[in-house]
Amino acid sequence: MFDPLPDKPDNNALELEVLDRWERERTFDQLRERNRGGPGFSFVDGPVTANKKLAVHTAWGRTLKDVFQRYKALKGFDQRYQNGFDCQGLWIEVGVERELGFNSKREIEAYGLEEFAARCRDVVVESSQQLTRGSIRLGQWMDWGNDYFTFSDTNIEYIWKFLKIVRERRWLYLGHRATAWCPRCGTSLSQHELTQGGVYQEKSDPSLYVRLPLLDRHGESVVVWTTTPWTLPANVAAAVHPEGEYGLRENGEWVLAARYPKDTFVRRAKGAELVGLRYQGPFDNLPPGAGVEHRIIPWDEVDLEQEIGTGIVHIAPGAGPEDFELGRSLGLDVLTPVDEAGRFYDDYGWLHGLSTVEAADQIVGDLAERGFLVESGTFLHDYAHCWRCDTPIIYRLSDDWFIAVDEIRPKLLEENAKVEWVPEYMGKRMDDWLRNMGDWNISRRRYYGLPLPFYPCSCGHLTVIGSKQELAERAVDPLDDLPELRRPWVDRIRIRCEACDEPVSRVLEVGDVWLDAGIVPFSTLGWESPEWVPEGYATGAARGLTTADLPDHAYWEQWFPADWVSEMREQIRLWFYSQFFMSCVLVGRSPYRRVLGYEKMLDEHGREMHGSWGNMIDAEDAFARMGADVMRWQYCAQPPDRNLLFGFGPAHEIKRKLLTFWNSVAVLVLYGNIARYEPSPADLDGLAPDRPLDRWMVARTHALVREAEAAYEATLSVNVIRAFEAFVDDLSNWYIRRSRPRFWAEEGDALRTLWYALVQSLRVISPVMPFLADHLWWNLVRGREASVHLAGWPEVGDPDRALLDEIAEVRAVVELGRQARSTSGLRQRQPLRRLIVAGAPLAREHGEEIADELNVKEVEFGDVEASELRVKPNLPLLGPKLGKDLARVRELLIEGDFTELEGGRFQVDGYVLEPEEVLVERIGREGWAVATDGTITAALDTTLDDELRIEGRVNDLIRSVQVLRKDSGLEVTDRIRLWIPEEELLPFSGRIAEETLAVAVELASELRLEKA
Ligand SMILES: [Zn+2]
Ligand SMILES: [Zn+2]
Repeated sequence: MFDPLPDKPDNNALELEVLDRWERERTFDQLRERNRGGPGFSFVDGPVTANKKLAVHTAWGRTLKDVFQRYKALKGFDQRYQNGFDCQGLWIEVGVERELGFNSKREIEAYGLEEFAARCRDVVVESSQQLTRGSIRLGQWMDWGNDYFTFSDTNIEYIWKFLKIVRERRWLYLGHRATAWCPRCGTSLSQHELTQGGVYQEKSDPSLYVRLPLLDRHGESVVVWTTTPWTLPANVAAAVHPEGEYGLRENGEWVLAARYPKDTFVRRAKGAELVGLRYQGPFDNLPPGAGVEHRIIPWDEVDLEQEIGTGIVHIAPGAGPEDFELGRSLGLDVLTPVDEAGRFYDDYGWLHGLSTVEAADQIVGDLAERGFLVESGTFLHDYAHCWRCDTPIIYRLSDDWFIAVDEIRPKLLEENAKVEWVPEYMGKRMDDWLRNMGDWNISRRRYYGLPLPFYPCSCGHLTVIGSKQELAERAVDPLDDLPELRRPWVDRIRIRCEACDEPVSRVLEVGDVWLDAGIVPFSTLGWESPEWVPEGYATGAARGLTTADLPDHAYWEQWFPADWVSEMREQIRLWFYSQFFMSCVLVGRSPYRRVLGYEKMLDEHGREMHGSWGNMIDAEDAFARMGADVMRWQYCAQPPDRNLLFGFGPAHEIKRKLLTFWNSVAVLVLYGNIARYEPSPADLDGLAPDRPLDRWMVARTHALVREAEAAYEATLSVNVIRAFEAFVDDLSNWYIRRSRPRFWAEEGDALRTLWYALVQSLRVISPVMPFLADHLWWNLVRGREASVHLAGWPEVGDPDRALLDEIAEVRAVVELGRQARSTSGLRQRQPLRRLIVAGAPLAREHGEEIADELNVKEVEFGDVEASELRVKPNLPLLGPKLGKDLARVRELLIEGDFTELEGGRFQVDGYVLEPEEVLVERIGREGWAVATDGTITAALDTTLDDELRIEGRVNDLIRSVQVLRKDSGLEVTDRIRLWIPEEELLPFSGRIAEETLAVAVELASELRLEKA
């Protein structure tokens, strides 16, 4: 006996029960045990930042990882299930700063770096526990407890090793340039950090037009435009396009003539003529400006088409990257007006101590007072903000450590071309990035991060340390007090310079976090590790948090490169990139063979999700209200090349669809129990029933297995969902509908076939909805595997394609028949005389089933003359083709003066019209209802006679009795006594009794029944 099913599943309760059972029976351990030694499938997990609990966004990626790992496990693959946590960098630091109420680096230093490091670690510990709990609830099967943490000493040492190699190749250098800078975080940011989502936000800035008096031409000036007033004190030059035509206004102002078409100019001149002229700087009254000779310079990059500005560009090499490059090529002076916190240096006089924002208004006022201001307003544009703290970015001159990329760039491009990207365009994005990216800025002036192992000596030599061992060997100070390879402890250890033996200190910078994550395919797989070290990964800050081993090099050989990695698209320039880059440097090849990327998650109305907008969905809430299976379904149903609109609305829709499947299982449970049907698990190895309908269901199941297999192999979960939904439709709306009388008759083959189809489909869908699938498996399968996840992937033969095509056509005819009936307005229970079907040769043998489904007496296959063909010209296409003949052709079409040709073409007066050039409609003639899909046409004879009418009434009555039976709480097998109010239906009491399980049918004043 099967356990009876409730009307609908309580997903949350059911999932918690399944989780319990998995834990009790150690199902995941059993699965890994079973697959050990099988073919390998290497998955490397991208680390999740450990600064939060599980969010529905993160659950998306985790679901995809789990789905494809579960599929591969069903296929018997031995896999790695190591989860990773990202533990360092601004994410963590900014969170702790907020918690402590800090807003500057000074406050962190006053608080103490040791204590600050401890707080950062606390965040990671707390968050990693929450993320683990959330992921387990989501159903993700990972090797929890053996996670990697990127702040472990082992991970850090691997990065040191990488940096040492980079140094040996001469790709490491200390760059001096104007770089993107967050004044709040007090650090530079790299190019890839500015490409993250949310960095560019709309911002309103001052818009200033500033007059700069020419020293060599009395009464004349050039006008420049800027949206960053704070950079004006750093002005050293004004650039013109040598070929641009500039105009001199009556008031002596030079501007680009084309920008001001309505102005009158007293003189016009090429930019080249202005080049070399000296001018008075806007802040020559302050010491830095006073020391600079300001000149007009030529620059081909001056945009002559721009709709804003004056065609004369304010140049401040210390406050803009392009300005810096230009200044370098021309040997211009460089002024750096603001410090790390974005405040003016002391030598800027009255500006000193002001932030770039605070200074803006005062600078505008000062310029106006001194006659430099032409015009001021505001300007709305997309402007870069710090990805971590939302502060607007500035550019300032800074010394940063860079990795030069030009030499390795060709190798990167060559390797990326070998990677299989899903969706394909993401590979193109990677290629674009690799072609255009600049050198990698790897240093950050922060605290909780990878300490860069750089020891520059005053003798000019740079020592780069490649391991903890090497540090010990070169250390001048004792290493006893080095609990973690981290600031502040590591800063206290000086080493002997390789060149001159003098003691040198480490630079204070920490590394870009993407180094932490990028090294993972080496640090966690034991690259070049001479031996296997139990718990060897649990070092430094990771000690006590994990039991992860440091494997040996043979293990790395076995599992590198990853067969598959998956993250969101944003990671192209982040994790996909950093590990790719590091891997190409270390071993000259890509660390992954295939990537699945996916787009962004928005709310169900297409808006970004924000805590402050109230549309953020908490994962806990989603588990409770929709259940993990429904969440997973929502993630899997999403084509990866489009944004996912996630929410409770779509979840409701999914529950509705899944209910159809649930109800199909309920049919088996109900009739199976009535028939005392005992399934035989051996049937799963192969079922060959006799009846065509059963054979079709088996073939249809095999087709599902094949389609889903192809979809999983292509890592396109959306195609798994589509295949499963189509299968459930066929199962429920054809097989079960057509088999009801046989279930009734307790026919074993029908129940067996239904059981087979359901159970095989559970195996197919189990990676997507592991809970519901296992719950139903336990109910339907007795005496074989204890879990669907241990049952393996179904082995099936090639499906009988001819049979599948045949029934697909039958279903299409029935669908069209239903459409035709609905246009006629006649209810389904009203029998009709005749259906004529054209264009469905495969359905010919199924006339009886079609008649039964559509409630018609007779089905004919042949030409449909019951309809009138109406053809209209498709004007946008035919107009150009026919020109003046269009009117005539149109008239002939209206009159019906045309011939239908093969393939949907039409002949009209010497013209052949292609299918796309015409709009075709088939209208039922009087007394007929017609529907067509272009190939198949179904025409229903809608004429009623007395016999049909009374039959319709009998059907209505039977239906009313069925409803009444259900409402009275009768079991489907209960017999009844029945009273009906319609005397003229009494002659049909035999049929009525048969269909309603009545032992007697009598006349009464109203419809009623009682249990017999
Ligand atoms: Zn910041
Ligand atoms: Zn030295």
